[in-house]
Amino acid sequence: MIDKRNFYINGKWVKPTKPNDLKVINPSNEEAFAIISQGSKEDTDAAVKAAKNAFVIWKETSKEEKIILLEKLLNIYKKRFNEMAEAMSNEMGSPIDFATSTHTASGQAHLEDFILRLKEFKFEENFNSKSNNHITLEPIGVCGLITPWNWPINQIALKVIPAFATGCTMILKPSEIAPISAMLFAEMIDEAGFPAGVFNLVNGDGAGVGTQISGHPDIDMVSFTGSTRAGKLITKNAADTIKRVCLELGGKGGNIVFADSYPDAVRDGIRNVMSNSGQSCDAPTRMLVEKSIYKRAVEEATDEANKIKVNVASKKGDHIGPVVSKVQYDKIINLIKDGINEGATLAAGGPELPSGLEKGYFIKPTIFTDVTNTMQIAKKEIFGPVLSIIPFETEEEAISITNETEYGLGNYLQTEDKEKAKRVAKKLRSGCVYINGNGADPGTPFGGYRQSGNGREGGNWGLEEYLEVKTITGWK
Ligand code: NAD
Repeated sequence: MIDKRNFYINGKWVKPTKPNDLKVINPSNEEAFAIISQGSKEDTDAAVKAAKNAFVIWKETSKEEKIILLEKLLNIYKKRFNEMAEAMSNEMGSPIDFATSTHTASGQAHLEDFILRLKEFKFEENFNSKSNNHITLEPIGVCGLITPWNWPINQIALKVIPAFATGCTMILKPSEIAPISAMLFAEMIDEAGFPAGVFNLVNGDGAGVGTQISGHPDIDMVSFTGSTRAGKLITKNAADTIKRVCLELGGKGGNIVFADSYPDAVRDGIRNVMSNSGQSCDAPTRMLVEKSIYKRAVEEATDEANKIKVNVASKKGDHIGPVVSKVQYDKIINLIKDGINEGATLAAGGPELPSGLEKGYFIKPTIFTDVTNTMQIAKKEIFGPVLSIIPFETEEEAISITNETEYGLGNYLQTEDKEKAKRVAKKLRSGCVYINGNGADPGTPFGGYRQSGNGREGGNWGLEEYLEVKTITGWK
């Protein structure tokens, strides 16, 4: 059993003030493989105090010194790359090859990109050549960073690196369900030699450490990635201290497949939604198909879903793993049953366990057809390997169905008609629109409209979230 019961506070690994052990479960076999502690108010307060003290020095530290430390961290990350992949494979069930090529690689890509951005970023400038006013961008202060389990190191890197780069100090509370990658990252930060108190880590759940962070009077900003449910609670709890609250929340992405889409558009859409066992905030979980190709699309979608293998995370190769926990498993299975009861057609998968996998939280890639946008399976974020296929007749109808959701994170569209693609992309109400399977480049902003959140992570937008803006007159 891996013992990770200490917290990282003020540059040291320290015991929790009160023992409160929590087992970390491997979702491939339902067995505990590590043990962490859940923090108390005393632990959170100690971490906040350390971050507050360290802010005095870190905010004055030069860009050059910060870059040296971030480059050291990048080298250590590369050295311990495989350990990171193994941690995530064990804690959240990502197949080891996917954990290596995608999850762990995302952490490295964010480190590399933020180092480049920081080198070029201007923290001050004159307002204009005729004015004697000067604008400075300054670190907001002590940040509480709260992250989810589904893309563990990706989400942590998108917060911790820009906080470092802008001169903020921080308390990270990773997901209590997948905390081992975060502990490993803290070890790397320790080895890189950041000044004591700049980075602190306290484990715990949302009701405990999470709530202590969002309400803490000495925390200036909370950056949160997770469910819309928790985002609302955090916003309310943060209100009394008027701290900045940056939210990256859930989604229910549409994927509009027009009749003139490229030949593999449907199959790519299936692989995209099932990837990471459907546990991605921007997964294209509603496939909207133009009626003239609906029959063919359903056949291809069903065939592709049936081809996707499900297996334990430690096995190499191209397959999906389990979903993260018993709680998620039960929620997803209940939503699949809701879909059947609501009258949608179950074209692939279903609520039974995949054959040969009696232990572990495994779910078959599941496709519902003849779905209407008012069904629960089309409205709720299922967060499992489940897709709803909805027919449409006109471009306007496709746009309207896609936008008819409380979310607005990632939408997708497939057509060979470039003008139509641009026209439709502009009308979709979401932070990202992916045309014909093109991915987003490093450093582009990621975030949502409406109940998908209010922040933007990545690139210069990700740095700006951690900055205050100051006008100084009489500068010249
Ligand atoms: P979750 O909201 O249950 O938990 C996320 C984190 O918040 C965990 O660390 C948890 O302990 C903490 N938390 C929970 N309740 C809290 C509270 N009241 N106060 C403070 N902290 C609290 O989400 P999850 O199940 O870990 O992650 C899945 C969710 O994350 C999905 O909804 C997914 O769409 C979303 N997500 C969004 C993005 C994005 O960038 N928009 C990225 C990844 C995941």
